[in-house]
Amino acid sequence: MKTAQVNQDKIVIKEVEDIKLDGRKGAIVRVLGCGLCGSDIVKFREKIVHDGAVLGHEIVAVIDAIDSDTNFKKGDKIVTSHHIPCGKCTYCRHGNVSMCEHFKSTNIRPGGFSEKVFVSEEHLQNVAHLVPEDITDEEISFYEPLGCCVRAIKRCGLTEGDNVLVIGLGSIGLLMGEGIKALGYKVYGCDLIEDRIALGNKLGIESYSSRDLEEFDKVIQGKSSGIDAVFMTSGADKALDVALRVVRKGGKILVFSSTPKNSGYPNNEIYYKELTVLGSYSPSPKDLKDSFDLLTSHKVNVKGLTTIYPLEKVQQAFDDTVANKILKAYIKIS
Ligand SMILES: [Zn+2]
Ligand SMILES: [Zn+2]
Repeated sequence: MKTAQVNQDKIVIKEVEDIKLDGRKGAIVRVLGCGLCGSDIVKFREKIVHDGAVLGHEIVAVIDAIDSDTNFKKGDKIVTSHHIPCGKCTYCRHGNVSMCEHFKSTNIRPGGFSEKVFVSEEHLQNVAHLVPEDITDEEISFYEPLGCCVRAIKRCGLTEGDNVLVIGLGSIGLLMGEGIKALGYKVYGCDLIEDRIALGNKLGIESYSSRDLEEFDKVIQGKSSGIDAVFMTSGADKALDVALRVVRKGGKILVFSSTPKNSGYPNNEIYYKELTVLGSYSPSPKDLKDSFDLLTSHKVNVKGLTTIYPLEKVQQAFDDTVANKILKAYIKIS
């Protein structure tokens, strides 16, 4: 089978021996496609993963071989995520499931950018779902990324009628905006790139340029006491200035991205404005189920957000994403 492996500063296609169940419970799946996540790019660029690693975790796949106590069977098309919390440790008990050691150690193997993948019984039992017929593979591949957004929205603890601003309208920002809207809150967006502002507006996220926030200020001040919560889906340092400028006193800033310089929020603003700054990382099985329901009920529309690449062009997909040429790559594998 073919896999796309990290090899120093490149991703190369390698032919490796087919994986088999070999007595393990779970399933061998034939990967139809896999979304390229921002975290894959960070892992590759920052050399967080070793040579030979197979990235990708947003898979849509068909079951090829299975030994499971679940109802899944050979031929089923499934979507799954990659991590499962233990449910018992300190982190899990406090709701920080994505900090759980077991969560971090579980994965689909060797990784999503591969013709075949082993999905464990634990995955099948907790985070895999049967894909209905009326949704495309590219659309359902947003299952895990939208799950991350659902988690962030829940963690933020919004109140009815809240105004929310999403800073950064890349694929995850647009997804976050759509999720916030689908869950019943007023959502605004801002970005530097005109096409993304236009796309935000098209998707029902009232979007503005972050180059000129005067207009946005007028809109907000005219309507309400300000922005109740700011979601940081951009890692640009300037985004922090925008967030601090627009968030109302007592408001919240939800951190959803790393920043290159690891810059933070100034102490005095947090103190004097009584701000809440909180992070949100990776989803729980329940967040993922909510994401699955939002996608399959078509309450969140992800049509047209993806650009398709064959497995052989995975490097190109990484490069184009980094260069902001595309919003979101979907690697079509079979
Ligand atoms: Zn992801
Ligand atoms: Zn745990």
